[in-house]
Amino acid sequence: MVTMNCPKCGAPFEYEPGMRFKKCDYCGTMIYIDKSRVMFYYIIPFSLNSQQATEVFRRWAAGSTKAKGLDAAQIKSIKKMYFPVYRFVRRINGREEDVIKPAKTTLLPGMSNLKIPPGDMRIFDDKYDTGDAEVIQPDTSMDAYLGNLPGEAKEQEIVYFPLYEIRYVFNGQEYNVLIDGSSGEVFSSYYPTRSSAPYLLLAVIAFVLAMAGAAGGVMISGVLWFLVLAGFLVGGIGGYFIAKKF
Ligand SMILES: [Zn+2]
Repeated sequence: MVTMNCPKCGAPFEYEPGMRFKKCDYCGTMIYIDKSRVMFYYIIPFSLNSQQATEVFRRWAAGSTKAKGLDAAQIKSIKKMYFPVYRFVRRINGREEDVIKPAKTTLLPGMSNLKIPPGDMRIFDDKYDTGDAEVIQPDTSMDAYLGNLPGEAKEQEIVYFPLYEIRYVFNGQEYNVLIDGSSGEVFSSYYPTRSSAPYLLLAVIAFVLAMAGAAGGVMISGVLWFLVLAGFLVGGIGGYFIAKKF
């Protein structure tokens, strides 16, 4: 047994070596223990409800790089969760920088690109109501990262991040996308894109026409210059229809 003091209320508590999480018996604060370090759990509240997260998804899906009709994709499930990340505050060349790393093994996209909004971190204790969100437990030690970080350590803590995972179906295939429940930022590593093949074919046709027009206009007859114009027209009008159809 090792004795330490709660970082919030100062009450002593005992824990077994190797134990990583402990709730303070006195004030209820969740305490994270890593080697000889004791630190708080922090949590960032949701500022989006699931309805708003769905709207964020629809807007994202309507973007110009997404497949046509993706914004009408069928949503299979929306999971509301608090995902644990480590926040390492590092001093790099005299400046302070946040490095965020997942504290749970994950295939979810974007977990190393999360930004912690200033002022939004709350201490995660008994009084904090996590509501209907699932609280995901960490499974990765902080030490897995500490050796490979830039600069020198200033502080580190564990932060529960509010996330929506939306699973959706498009053309019979299932995809997932993550939405930051505090900022509305969207993370997705793989999604149905707008096909670029028709554009490519069209660009080739337009280019060949224009080149033939330019060559013909110089070498054969001035009339053939119209092919240059035809090339531009094919590119412009064709592009418009492809954009509508695909
Ligand atoms: Zn305490």
